[in-house]
Amino acid sequence: MDVGPLRRITVALGRAGGGKWHVPAKASGWRSHCRYAERLTGSSLALLDVCEQVCRHCARVVSVEPGEEALWRAAAEVVVADGRVRRLEGQEAGPRSWEGYARVLWEAARHRDADVRGRLEPWTADALVGAGARQVLGAWSGVLKRSEAALAGWRAAAPAARSATSVSGACDAVAADGTVQQEGLQLAAAVLQSRWAEPFDVWSAVRRAWSGVRDQGGGTHAARTAAMRAVEAVWGGLRVRDVTALPEPALVAGAGFASPAQWADAEFQHRWQQYVLDCCAQLEEALGAATGDGGDGWQLVLVSGWPLTRKQDAELAYLAQYEQHGPTVPFGGRRAGYGVEPDHAVVLAVPRFAARHAADHTRDDRQRIVLGPELVAGSAGPDERDVLALLRGAYPYLSADAEGDGAGAGPTAMVTTARAVRRAAQLGRRAAYSGPDSMEVYNDLVVGKYSWVPDDAHPGPAAAEMEHLPVHWLKDWMLCLDVECGTRAETVLHRLYGTVTSYEPGTGRVGFSPAGGHPAIVVPVHRIVALTGDRQRRSDGQVPAHEPYEE
Ligand SMILES: [Zn+2]
Repeated sequence: MDVGPLRRITVALGRAGGGKWHVPAKASGWRSHCRYAERLTGSSLALLDVCEQVCRHCARVVSVEPGEEALWRAAAEVVVADGRVRRLEGQEAGPRSWEGYARVLWEAARHRDADVRGRLEPWTADALVGAGARQVLGAWSGVLKRSEAALAGWRAAAPAARSATSVSGACDAVAADGTVQQEGLQLAAAVLQSRWAEPFDVWSAVRRAWSGVRDQGGGTHAARTAAMRAVEAVWGGLRVRDVTALPEPALVAGAGFASPAQWADAEFQHRWQQYVLDCCAQLEEALGAATGDGGDGWQLVLVSGWPLTRKQDAELAYLAQYEQHGPTVPFGGRRAGYGVEPDHAVVLAVPRFAARHAADHTRDDRQRIVLGPELVAGSAGPDERDVLALLRGAYPYLSADAEGDGAGAGPTAMVTTARAVRRAAQLGRRAAYSGPDSMEVYNDLVVGKYSWVPDDAHPGPAAAEMEHLPVHWLKDWMLCLDVECGTRAETVLHRLYGTVTSYEPGTGRVGFSPAGGHPAIVVPVHRIVALTGDRQRRSDGQVPAHEPYEE
């Protein structure tokens, strides 16, 4: 990318000697952001040259013109997206997995397209930065095109969906009665290192290795060899710890061994190899019996637990190739290492055989896949109302619903009635506070003893009260936002869990980050019944993302 337009962005910075650059402070005293910044005189420098050497306190207050900032941030997106595409373009040709695709898709430039364009387009006609904005826009379009080409290349090198679904279907059929898992666990018990060790999940290892080869069009023999290798990598040459855990009768004759322990090891090695052969034989039989049936046509499905990048999603990941309709919505959090990271839900249009497979494959976890209406043959795409209805099943509050209320919308009767109930419930408590800016209000709010209830005619006393609260502290607490969800004709109240990140006194809009650590959504005040804390003081990973409203 040509960095010419970025080089023209200048900032006034100063430094003493050869240290970090600081933003010269206009006045000294406690307001000064950085103690090194005082008494420095600034000179005009190209931000591009010095951005790596700005002191970290001062980096936050470096200020550039809005147009320049738009240029800078968009250029940063181009650089990140370009780095990702380069890594994909640099990979050797060969078969690709859908698991890999799900990861690559999640980071793909297409998800940033609307943001980057929205940032740059207001500036393309600007006298000062217009040429630069057009240039960065061109660079973005180029990298987006390459990103799409890389995704298409990956899809072409990944297994056909028919093959992925019949292979996975065969695995589900073999696993259905639980026998193969049980036999595997019994074997694992013989070599368990200690009572507290996690037993090796040999069935999953066989399933994964066998599927990996079969998915890619490999034959019976190659699939069996792969399964054998996968288990041998863990169990090859392992010593038996608990002879009594070995199944009876023995398969290996005891004669000719120097010790019972030596016999047990030989028996175990023979056993697991036989186990792998049995599993593969059953899998081949099930695959041969698979009809691959499911009918023609396409169907909408709600997929939660998106992106499909977790280990347990390997056999669902092929769904990532199908087109997403509507927004990606929050679906609580997923465990990641010792923390929680955002989990999501999306609606896809998929072939009916894939919808059937996905539903069968996840039948123990009914929330994962929800089947929606079939698509009408010959139609341009799904009905948006069907898409949004499915998404509300995953997260009841959709920004699109509130936007449909129109500008200047007021609260519905459902909301004002619920608010009145909430206000009445805490009249006594409210009267006891010493004033609207009292810390008691904040302290009681965050633990769920007090509910903030918006004014029916905004702004009123409730707006003033919220303005007096230290809103920037609210984000440290898990809160409950009781809101009206759905389209105007058929709304319903829900409780959303999350944190409040901002409050706009003028409009009354609340920035709300849904539980799981999702980026904040903006909730208009006319949709809000109340804001309160979680009485059980739970945290991310412990609270549901939402629940029906009760009061
Ligand atoms: Zn500084």
